[in-house]
Amino acid sequence: MARLVMKFGGTSVADLDRIHNVARHVKREVDAGHEVAVVVSAMAGKTNELVDWVRSMPLATGAASPIYDAREYDAIVASGEQVTSGLLAIALQSIGVDARSWQGWQIPIRTDNGHGAARILDVDGSEIVRRMGLGQVAVITGFQGIAPDNRIATLGRGGSDTSAVAVAAGLAADRCDIYTDVDGVYTTDPRVEPKARRLARISFEEMLEMASLGAKVLQVRSVELAMVHRVRTFVRSSFEDPDAPGMGDFDNPPGTLICDEDEIVEQQVVTGIAYAKDEAQISLRRLADRPGVSAGIFGPLAEANINVDMIVQNVSEDGSRTDMTFTVPASDVEKAVGVLENVRNGIGFDAIQSETGLVKVSVIGIGMRSHTGVAATAFKALAEKGINIRAITTSEIKISILIDGPYAELAVRTLHSVYGLDKQ
Ligand code: ADP
Ligand code: ASP
Ligand code: MG
Repeated sequence: MARLVMKFGGTSVADLDRIHNVARHVKREVDAGHEVAVVVSAMAGKTNELVDWVRSMPLATGAASPIYDAREYDAIVASGEQVTSGLLAIALQSIGVDARSWQGWQIPIRTDNGHGAARILDVDGSEIVRRMGLGQVAVITGFQGIAPDNRIATLGRGGSDTSAVAVAAGLAADRCDIYTDVDGVYTTDPRVEPKARRLARISFEEMLEMASLGAKVLQVRSVELAMVHRVRTFVRSSFEDPDAPGMGDFDNPPGTLICDEDEIVEQQVVTGIAYAKDEAQISLRRLADRPGVSAGIFGPLAEANINVDMIVQNVSEDGSRTDMTFTVPASDVEKAVGVLENVRNGIGFDAIQSETGLVKVSVIGIGMRSHTGVAATAFKALAEKGINIRAITTSEIKISILIDGPYAELAVRTLHSVYGLDKQ
């Protein structure tokens, strides 16, 4: 007997038939004698609909406001998961599995006060563990917990993955299975490159980079938690027949295991390609070149909660003026330009130029630590396709390249192929 957490994403619970199918996956594990807790997302599209309602709520003046109360945002967008947890509990009961729904606050899953993008601080698993011992299945709302102000807090988009891993850590589960609409983590998004290959295993570090650089198959924070709390996490498909051979294999379930790098036997130089759309580039022209200028630019941007990513600064030709370019999410570009205009006189620069619709494509692999020439291969391959590179950043295990939006898919496929990742 083992203890399992099973998480089902939005497409897996998109309608009542799929919820019944999910119930059969859960029943398979219960029948095998395991203790099971389930974490669910909202039905596909539901959270988007709720977010849109908040954003388009007309004010008294009749204007739609982009500014809203983050606590009320949370109260509204958390409701999607409440519905699916209740529906799945009913579906389980209907096939003879003892189950009840739990909202985050009832457990409780405690978060910090960062409404809209809260972090889980603690999961009190005691009552769930007691009931699992009696054979009851807990169906827990993902994406949410209770903040110190005693109000519901949500974890940021895609946050049910993080709920699942946090619950698995809190219950000291033997395994956390993330069921989704693909049967594992692929070398790149299989929707962009049908030749992408499923990885049997991927290291925590690489998965962290893949998720941070745009592969939304797991929320970044869930990978961090799995790494810190040593949660054995699999990504697998909910769309397969729940009773197909091997589905209940405890040691080797079908899917991708996220694990330590020393558990991976055949290490490739490059493991995967990720991409992030909706990047924007801001350039400051003829910027003063003296100590304190970078602090004067990036300090105010950080205070405005603007996430700056790639930063490129030229070496000054005459020692007095230079150019600086950096990227921000496209949704923040106007805010960022406003912040920079405010500090313009104090810092000194001639012009601000901004451009949206850019894409960051990244090559990821821990093998890069010990191999040279990985970046040169990417640059050559992109050049051969006529793709212009706007900015480059590297770390020990990744190379990120900023390009024009329309070339995103071509760049992903080109890099996927040049590193030998295409399915044979
Ligand atoms: P869920 O609703 O189950 O949380 P998501 O839509 O959040 O599912 O994540 C699954 C999707 O992630 C897949 O449908 C796929 O298009 C996308 N994806 C992006 N990169 C990858 C990758 N490297 N491997 C697998 N899926 C990926
Ligand atoms: N329903 C939430 C979202 O769409 C959380 C999740 O699905 O993980 O972001
Ligand atoms: Mg998701």
